[in-house]
Amino acid sequence: MSDESSFDHRKLSNRILMALVAGLVFGVALNLTIADLPWVRTFVIDGALTVVGEVFVRLLSMLVVPLVFVSLITGVSALSDPASLGRIGGKAVFLYMLTTGVAISLALIGALIVQPGVGASPVDQVAREISAQPSFGQVLINMVPRNPVRAMAEGDMLPIIIFAILIGLAVAMSGKAGERVGGFFSDFNVVIMRLVEFVMLVAPIGVFALIAVLGATTGISTFLGVLKYVILVLVMLIVHAVMTYSLLLKFTTGLSPRAFFSKLRAVQAFAFSTASSGATIPVTLKTVEQRLGVGKSVASFTVPLGATINMDGTAIMQGVATIFIAQYFGVDLSFTQMLMVVLMVIMASVGTAGVPGVGLVLLAGVLASVGLPAEGIALILGVDRVLDMTRTAVNVTGDCAVSLIVAHSEGEFDQAVFDGSQPGGTVVTEAAAKS
Ligand code: ASP
Repeated sequence: MSDESSFDHRKLSNRILMALVAGLVFGVALNLTIADLPWVRTFVIDGALTVVGEVFVRLLSMLVVPLVFVSLITGVSALSDPASLGRIGGKAVFLYMLTTGVAISLALIGALIVQPGVGASPVDQVAREISAQPSFGQVLINMVPRNPVRAMAEGDMLPIIIFAILIGLAVAMSGKAGERVGGFFSDFNVVIMRLVEFVMLVAPIGVFALIAVLGATTGISTFLGVLKYVILVLVMLIVHAVMTYSLLLKFTTGLSPRAFFSKLRAVQAFAFSTASSGATIPVTLKTVEQRLGVGKSVASFTVPLGATINMDGTAIMQGVATIFIAQYFGVDLSFTQMLMVVLMVIMASVGTAGVPGVGLVLLAGVLASVGLPAEGIALILGVDRVLDMTRTAVNVTGDCAVSLIVAHSEGEFDQAVFDGSQPGGTVVTEAAAKS
């Protein structure tokens, strides 16, 4: 089988974007015409389209645990200086929290100015089960797996990361045996990355199906009563994605934000259509390494970590939603309460995997911390899927930006790959070596 020639990022990005638009047009056309016919609903929407879309998301999710495990072991064992791991981790966690702090603050300010809850008349007040969130201390305890196999079975990202880092360090310190084991994982990593490419090749079909289902099943009337809320969240997401990351990138690395964004189209489309930064990890990892030029030792750590603890887009939704709900119920939040919201939002995202809809679950904790009723969530439930998709695209953009900044500061950045003058990453390098 041919190697890198079979995989053209740019062509694929274009095909995925075309599929996204085609899926939307097809879905909305169904919605406006025959979506209510029983056979269309059963065989087309709930049948073919849903099956294809879900299978695609599963194919991606299937790769997450093995890929994170194997690539982290490979990345950590290849570090020339294991002490740099602490620095990389410290910088990544700091930047993830900083950007989330900026995101939630922007959202609160925007919402205080626009007042989305004043005059809102939500139509979709569905009751929702709210599960209790573990305390922050418990999150820290849970980071260390009692049983790594169970952590993997449950796709629990933080304990998997800790276990893989420890194995990677041990591999680096085990002489000849370590070299053999490390060599195996490094080869395995190439194989799994190849599998990621296979899944990416069928992505246009999966994306089409996912978006078509959305278009066919979303009622426009749901949006009308909370339109101010929806528009404000979307605007703040765009402002944060464009402004915060561009400024941060420019000041810390001097790299062109425009070049950065131009490489993220495919990964953003994946995040958007799956609404899961967790399921997007394989594509994020591939993009960060092979398009942005981030070294494996950094990417294999910062990407899965970011998919778990970094949710800037989610923070924006939570900020706007908190103010929206407070205004809807006629509650005035004090400055101290708002600070509490900022802290809660930053803390809440740590330890919760990036899966669809998790932002709403976390919102319950945020609301409770300032004495707002959790039932308020029912007000925005009907419109959440579209916002979830959009905020997930912002979440992964943040993961990519932070990975790039950390790699740049650690000398783990390849300018030639970023400039596009040289293909990067393990798969391509291996393939090139063979040819
Ligand atoms: N779906 C988001 C993600 O995976 C989380 C959320 O906001 O619900 O990043």
